[in-house]
Amino acid sequence: MSESEILELRRRHVGSVLSLAYRIPLEIVRGEGAYLFDGRGRRYLDCVNNVCHVGHCHPRVVEAASRQMAELNTNTRYLHDNLVEYARRLSALLPEQLSVCFFVNSGSEANDLALRLARAASGRRGVVVLDGAYHGHLGSLIEISPYKFDGPGGGGRAPHVQVAPTPDPYRGQHRGPGSAEPYAQGVRAALERAAAQGGDAGAFFCESMLGCAGQIVPPKGYLRAAFEHARAAGALCVADEVQVGFGRVGDALWAFDLQGAVPDVVTLGKPIGNGHPLAAVVTTSKVASAFDDGMEYFNTFGGNPVSCAVGLAVLDVIEDEGLVENARIVGAHLLERLQDLGRRFPLIGDVRGAGLFLGIELVRDRATLEPAAREAADVCEAMKERGVLLSTDGPLHNVLKIKPPIVFSRDDADLLADELGEVLAAG
Ligand code: PMP
Repeated sequence: MSESEILELRRRHVGSVLSLAYRIPLEIVRGEGAYLFDGRGRRYLDCVNNVCHVGHCHPRVVEAASRQMAELNTNTRYLHDNLVEYARRLSALLPEQLSVCFFVNSGSEANDLALRLARAASGRRGVVVLDGAYHGHLGSLIEISPYKFDGPGGGGRAPHVQVAPTPDPYRGQHRGPGSAEPYAQGVRAALERAAAQGGDAGAFFCESMLGCAGQIVPPKGYLRAAFEHARAAGALCVADEVQVGFGRVGDALWAFDLQGAVPDVVTLGKPIGNGHPLAAVVTTSKVASAFDDGMEYFNTFGGNPVSCAVGLAVLDVIEDEGLVENARIVGAHLLERLQDLGRRFPLIGDVRGAGLFLGIELVRDRATLEPAAREAADVCEAMKERGVLLSTDGPLHNVLKIKPPIVFSRDDADLLADELGEVLAAG
C-alpha cells in the first residue's frame, strides 16, 4: 500500500484518537539494532524507542520466541519451566525482599495490579502520586496520572488521589541539589491531606525517574526520604520502572537503586520483552500473601511460556552483551556532548539524565525559563529530515527526550549530537 492508502484506511478504520508522530508521518517497515528503515529503505537512528531495549529485532530474542511458539503456548495453570525460571532470574536481579512475581501484558496492567496489591496490603484506597506523572491508560490509572487527568480531555483529580510536587530541580517549586528534602516534605503534606480528607493513602506511586513529566532526575536522596514519609503514614511504596528499568540508567539495573531506596512493589514493562507484550509486578511475600484473599487471580496471557522465553532471552542479552555498562559509558559520553551544545546554544536551558535516559529542556529565556515548545517540535521535525528520530515531552512540551535502545553506540551518540548541533545552528 502507498502511504496515502495506509493513511486513508487508518482514517476510516482506526480510532482518530491514536496519534501519529511527525507532520508528515513515517512508514517504518524494518528495524535492526538502534536503526529503523522506512518503505524507501532510508535509515533512521532511533533515539526514542525504550521498548526495543536490546535492539530492534534482536536475533536471540526472535529465536527464543519462535522456538517456544513452535513448541507450545499455554497459560499458567500448567507447570512449565519457563515461568518459574523467569521468576527466579528476575527476582534475583531485584532487592532480596522483592521475591514474588506476577506476569502481565503491559505496563498499564502491571500498574493496575500494583494498585490492587497495595490496596489489599494496606486496606486503604487512597493514592499519592507525583505531579506530571503518567502510569498507564486504564481507567484506574488515568485517575492516578496528573499528566492525563489535568490535560486535554481530562476530568480533573479524583477525591481518592492526592498530588505531590514534581521533584524537578530545574524548574519546579524547589530548585537545585538541596531540593530533595523540601520535595519529600511535599509527599508528606500530600499524605496528610489524604488523611485529613478521609481517604488515607494506601500507596505512594512514583517513577524512580520521571519520563512523561519531562525526563526528570529527582534530587539525590529524594526517593528514600519520600518512601520514609509514605511508610510512616501506612502507605506502600510502588516504584514504576516501566520506562527506566533494566539498566537504562547505566549505573544500576533499577533507577530506585540510584536513590538508595527500596520499594514494596516494583512494576516493569516496555523494555522487559524487547517489543513482545510482557510486563511484570514484583513484590514482597507479605504483600503477595495479603492479595491472596480467596479471589483467584488468573491472567490468560500473562506468564505464558512464549512470553517467559522472551523475557529470559532479554535478560541473557543484557548480561552477555554488557548492555548496562554500555548505557553507562555511551550515556556519559552523550551527556557530555549535549552539555557542550548547552554551552553553545542559549535555547538549551538544561541537559539532564542518567545513562541512556536523557532530556534536553528548551527555553526562550534562561532567566524566566519561558518554555520553547514550538522550537522543540521544530527541532524534532528537522532531526527527522536528517535521519534522527527524537520526541518531545513534559507538561510544557519543551523537553527533547532521548531514550534509545541501549545498544546505542558511541558513533550513534556522536551522530545525534552532530546533527543536533547543526539543527540548532541553523536556528
Ligand atoms: N508507566 C509509565 C511510566 C509509562 O511511561 C507507561 C507508558 N508510556 C506506562 C506505565 C504504561 O505502559 P503501557 O503503555 O505498556 O500500558
